[in-house]
Amino acid sequence: MNEFPTAAGQDAGALLAALPDPVAWLDPAGQWILNAAAAARLANLNAGRDWSALFSEESALQLREAVAVARAGQTTRVTVKVVDTAAPGLVTVAPSGGGVLLHLHVARDPLEVALELMDGLHLGLTVQAPDSRILLVNSAAPDILGLSAEQLTGRDSLDPRWQAIHPDGRPFPGDTHPSRVALQTGKVVRDVPMGIFHPPSETWRWLQVTAIPRLVAGTDEPKQVTTVFADVTERHTLQREMQRSEQRFRSLVEATSQIVWDARPDGNFLPPQPGWEAFTGQAPPEYGGDGWFAAIHPEDRAGTVNDWRQAVQTAQPYLSEHRLRRADGQYVPMQARAVPVRDGDGQIREWVGTHTDMSAVREAQQALIDLNADLERRVQERTLALADLTRFSTLLLTAAGEGIFGLDLRGVTTFANPAAARLLGYSVERMIGHSQHELVHHHHADGREYALRDCPIHQTIRDGQTRRVEQDVMWHAQGHAVPVAYVVTPTHDEAGQVSGAVVMVQDITERERAQARLRELIENLERSNQDLEQFAYVASHDLQEPLRTIGSYTELLTRRYQGQLDPRADQYLHYMQDAVLRMRSLIQDLLGFARVGRQDTPLESVPLDDLLRAAEQNVRGTLDQDHGTLEWHTPDHVLGQPSLLIQLLTNLISNGLKFRAPGRDARVRVTSRRVGAFVQVSVQDNGIGIAPEYHARVFDIFQRLHRREQYAGNGMGLAICRKIVEFHGGRIWLDSAPAQGSTFHLTLPVAPTPQ
Ligand code: ADP
Repeated sequence: MNEFPTAAGQDAGALLAALPDPVAWLDPAGQWILNAAAAARLANLNAGRDWSALFSEESALQLREAVAVARAGQTTRVTVKVVDTAAPGLVTVAPSGGGVLLHLHVARDPLEVALELMDGLHLGLTVQAPDSRILLVNSAAPDILGLSAEQLTGRDSLDPRWQAIHPDGRPFPGDTHPSRVALQTGKVVRDVPMGIFHPPSETWRWLQVTAIPRLVAGTDEPKQVTTVFADVTERHTLQREMQRSEQRFRSLVEATSQIVWDARPDGNFLPPQPGWEAFTGQAPPEYGGDGWFAAIHPEDRAGTVNDWRQAVQTAQPYLSEHRLRRADGQYVPMQARAVPVRDGDGQIREWVGTHTDMSAVREAQQALIDLNADLERRVQERTLALADLTRFSTLLLTAAGEGIFGLDLRGVTTFANPAAARLLGYSVERMIGHSQHELVHHHHADGREYALRDCPIHQTIRDGQTRRVEQDVMWHAQGHAVPVAYVVTPTHDEAGQVSGAVVMVQDITERERAQARLRELIENLERSNQDLEQFAYVASHDLQEPLRTIGSYTELLTRRYQGQLDPRADQYLHYMQDAVLRMRSLIQDLLGFARVGRQDTPLESVPLDDLLRAAEQNVRGTLDQDHGTLEWHTPDHVLGQPSLLIQLLTNLISNGLKFRAPGRDARVRVTSRRVGAFVQVSVQDNGIGIAPEYHARVFDIFQRLHRREQYAGNGMGLAICRKIVEFHGGRIWLDSAPAQGSTFHLTLPVAPTPQ
C-alpha cells in the first residue's frame, strides 16, 4: 500500500495501512486503493479489489452518494450493512488528498474485544458459568494452561484433573479457586498466586489469577465469572532465586560470626558499631569510650584491658583471646585482633579490629581430643582382645588332640604343642629351635632318605600353597616310624609374605591298622567265596556223572519192566524218572550259577534291542503256548557279556510269563532309560505280584514262594539274575504287590552309543 503515503502524508499513510479496520482510498483517477485489512477482508469474500463488495447493495448505494458528498469537500458517516458480519458497520467517508478516504468501523462484541486484548497481552481469560463450567476461553488461555480450547471448554473448577498448588506447596482445592469464590461471594477476587501443572512441559507454571463476577442486572446474583490469569512463572522463579541467594548470603554472614569494629587512636570506642551492637546487645552509650570492656567476661577482663592498653600505647597490633558476652547473656570464646590504621603522615588515624567466634575452633579441638581418647580406648581394647586371643590360641594349642607345630622360613620349629611332642616322643623344648625335617622327617617309610625338595612341608614354605598329605611317616625319638597324615598351611607376615608354615599332624597308626584289617577280611571273604563257588562247580559237575548213571538205569528199568510189574512199581518208576529230571535241571542251574563270572570274555557294547530279540527267541515256545505278549522299548546300549545278559533277560521275562494271574494272558514289557553312568532296565509284568516282605528274599538261592505243583521251578532263576547283574557292577530290585503285577529293575553300565 505504498500509495497511502503519497496520498495522506508519511505518518498518516503508514497508520492507515496498518489499521486493523478496512480502509479504502478512492484516488482522483477513480482507482480503489485498499489497506491490508480491507484487502484481507475482500480476499476472504473472493471479491477481488472491489471495495463495495463488502456491503449490502443498499449500503453500497448510500456509500456512493457519500463519496459524491466527500468529493464536494464534506465528511459524512454512513451506517452500513457489512456482508460478512451481522453487526452494523459505520463508514466514515472523508475528502482526502484530492480523493476520498473511506474508513469502515464495525461494531464488535465487547467480550470479543476483551478476549483479543487479553491475547495481545498474553493474559489468559475464561468465562465460566454459575456452576464454574468453562464456556469460553481466549487463545492465550490454552497456551498458558497447556490444554487445548476443547479440553478446557466444559471443564469446571472442581474437575479432579486440575493440579494446582499454593506457593508453599499446599494443594489448591478446586472449591477455593478464585472463580468459585467470586461466584459464591459475588465479589472480585484479585491477584491470587497459584501454581498449576502444565502437562506439555511437565513443569509447574505460576499464575496470578483474578476472578470478576458478572452479576445479573440489579441483583447480587452472579451470572458468570470472568477469570483473568497471567503467567508469572518467570517472575516467580526469579523471586525464588533471589530469596535463595539472599538466604545464602545471610547464612554466609552468620556463619563467619565475626564482628568488625573500629576505635579511636586512643583506644576508645566511638558509636556507631553495628556489628558490636548486634552481637553484644550493648547500646551505644554502654559501649562508648571504654564501656565495651563491660561485655568481656569478668575473669578475662583485666588481662584484656591490659593487652589493649599496651597495644594502643606501643601502636603494635593487638591480639587477645577472651570470652565475650552475647546479647542472650551467653559468653562466647573470641579471638580479638586489631591493627592501627595510619594516615599519610604516619599518624594513627584509627584502630580496626575484629572479634572472631572461637567456639567452632574450640569445638573442633574438643572433637579432636575426644577422637584421640576414643582411639586410645580402642587401641587398648584391641590389645586386650589380642591378649585374649593369644591366651585362647595357646590354650587351643595345648588342648588340641592333634599335633601342631610351626616352622619358620628355614624350616626350624618355632612352636610345638604337647600333642605334637607326645606323638614323636620329644619334649616341646627339644623340638623348638631344631630343624623339623632333620629331627623327625628325614626318611621315607621304606628307608629312603627324604630329600628336602620333595618334602611337602618345605614346598609349602616355598610356594605358600596349603597341602594335605594323607599318608607319610614321621620318626619317633625312639627310632620307629609313626604313620601320619597332615595339613600344611602357610603363615604370612604383615606384608603378606610367607613367613613359614603350621603343620597339623595326625597319628594314623590306628586308621592304618583298621584299614589293613578290613582289607584282610575282604580278601578272606573273597577267598571263601571262590572256594564255595569252586565247590559248587565241582560238586555239580561231579554229581552229573552218577546222575547220568541213575538216569540211564531208570530208563532201562522203565523200558524193560513197564507194565510187567504191579501198578505200584510202575508208579515208583515214574517218580524216579521225575526225580532224575528235576535233579538234572537243578544241577544245571547250579552249574550255571557257579559259572557266572568265571569266563574271561571281555565286556562289549551291546544294544539292548539285540539282547531282547535273543531272549524273545528263548521264550518263544511259552509265548505261543500261553498267548503271552512281550514288547520292549529299549533304545540304550549297555556294556556287558551278551550271553549272560541274554540269560538274565530270559529269566526275568520267563518269570513274568510264568507267574501270570489266573484267567489273564501274560503281558511283559521291557523298557530302559539312562540314569547317570548306568542304564536302568525294567521288566514289568501283569502277573500275580509278590508281597513286599518277600522282595529281598526272592533273590536268594533256592527261594521259592510257591509249591512246585503250582508253578514249576528251582528257585535259582533270580539268584542267577542277581549274580549276573552284580558281576556287571549293577544292582537289581523290584516293585510289586500281590495282584498288582511285578516290575524288576536292574542297572547295567552304559555303553557309548556307536556313532
Ligand atoms: P523259580 O525257579 O521258582 O522261578 P526264581 O528265583 O526265578 O525261582 O524266583 C523265586 C520266586 O520268586 C519264585 O518262586 C516266585 O515265587 C517269585 N517270583 C519270581 N518272579 C516273579 C514274578 N514275575 N511274579 C511273581 N512272582 C515271582
